[in-house]
Amino acid sequence: MNNIPKEIDIETHRTEQSGSLSVIQANTHLNFPIRRVYYIHSIEDNKARGFHGHKKLQQCIVATSGSVTLSLEGYGNTYSFELNSPDKGVLVPAGYWREMSNFSKDAVLMVIASDDYDPEDYIHDKEVFNTFDAERSAINKVTYLAMHRRYDEFKLQLQQVTEEVLDEVNYIMGPRLEKFEESFAKFTGAKYCIGTGNGLDALEIILRASNIGAGDEVIVSAGGFIATLLAVMRVGATPVLVECETWGNIDPLKIEAAITKNTKAILPTHLYGIPADMDGVRAVANKYDLLVFEDACQAHGAQYKDGTCGALSDAAAFSFYPTKNLGGFGDGGCLTTSSEKIAKTARQLRSYGAAVKYHHDIVGFNSRLDEMQAALLQFLLPNVPKWNEKRRNLASLYLNHLSGIEEIELPMVSDDSVPVWHVFPIMVPAEKRDAFCDHLTKHNIGYNIHYPKAMHLQPCCSHLQHNAGDFPVAEKLADCEVSLPLDPYHTEEEINFVIKAILDFFMSDTVKN
Ligand SMILES: *Cc1c(COP(=O)(O)O)cnc(C)c1O
Repeated sequence: MNNIPKEIDIETHRTEQSGSLSVIQANTHLNFPIRRVYYIHSIEDNKARGFHGHKKLQQCIVATSGSVTLSLEGYGNTYSFELNSPDKGVLVPAGYWREMSNFSKDAVLMVIASDDYDPEDYIHDKEVFNTFDAERSAINKVTYLAMHRRYDEFKLQLQQVTEEVLDEVNYIMGPRLEKFEESFAKFTGAKYCIGTGNGLDALEIILRASNIGAGDEVIVSAGGFIATLLAVMRVGATPVLVECETWGNIDPLKIEAAITKNTKAILPTHLYGIPADMDGVRAVANKYDLLVFEDACQAHGAQYKDGTCGALSDAAAFSFYPTKNLGGFGDGGCLTTSSEKIAKTARQLRSYGAAVKYHHDIVGFNSRLDEMQAALLQFLLPNVPKWNEKRRNLASLYLNHLSGIEEIELPMVSDDSVPVWHVFPIMVPAEKRDAFCDHLTKHNIGYNIHYPKAMHLQPCCSHLQHNAGDFPVAEKLADCEVSLPLDPYHTEEEINFVIKAILDFFMSDTVKN
């Protein structure tokens, strides 16, 4: 990524009367926040110094007077720079071994640094540095997610946005939220977006805004995450589970049998970022005059036919939990809808039931997306299409290279959908899952299981009176699913490393049998 050292031109203004003025801006020149500036000077002629590396610290070095030679080594490359003018600087990324030599007597080096002094950040021993350098270049582990790389890329800008919001001293229900709601509505194609404290609250607010409560039934998929059911239970309604398709999305053919006179709505989830069969769902809903909502908490930007998830139903819930496809820096969520009535009531509900401050028409609660999260999400939002595309590219590596393994079931996506792979799930035989996961761990590969226990067998659902065997497809998913590493900041090499480890596992297995 940003790890190539480079020379920068420093903007210098010269006038005859007042001499020169050189300007370094963190934004345009450095791309890291400035935490510290120090000087190296009064060096005896021709002495060398510097012999160390930094794991994290980024620097910009300028010879404001005199001259010096700067040598850098790292990532398998060496660089040498002559610093001899206040108009030039060198950006030194983290992770390089550095040496400075040939100091002139009058040399004054200004060092602009990204972090406070931290003795832990130094590598003083060249051998230790060489090991550090070799280990990070070779791929020998793949984490499940790579969120720290996103932060590293945008650190300066994110800190700037944070500072702006702090400076505005307006932290709840301000212009940042309004702007983000407008942008996110546009992103989905829905008319309205209403920010909430999290995705679960967004689901609950949708149901409450639609007058769903005690005595009502809401149809949900038996495959998926518990939040969908919790929202239904929290408004006092009854979740009615319907068997899922292989990969957890609701099976539209099973819905009709679950409908009673109390059924009010169908709430499908676009699980793993794969759109549910919305035409199938809507056909049943139309026949019985039911509302349709989406749990789109894993589906930011996913496409179904010519629509975007979040605009395929009466209302949809999104989560901005940090690991989601659009993830914030804490909890956050929103709902999208094109219904003016739902939008209006939802706005009231999230803020004490008041449309006008201190006039409480309905029993609301407090669940808002704060200005800080809204501003940071607004900054990240334009990247989501590119990140989703990268997820699809990495997913196609898995799909192409794992398709020869008979024992693995790979996720299927219908031709009229564009998934966003919030999770890349595979299924392995239940009796081999533990061994498979141990194998990944042994190869330093992160993984996850989404979700290890089917919802109808969770203690919080005991009142629904389901038993093991009620939803065999959902139970199989719970028993066999493994989520492989997938993050827009993973490299193809890393995914290939995972693929190789998986091939190893099943190939050596075949030999054994
Ligand atoms: C994350 C998630 C939620 C809940 O969102 P939170 O912001 O964590 O409350 C709901 N449903 C699904 C499918 C999710 O993945």
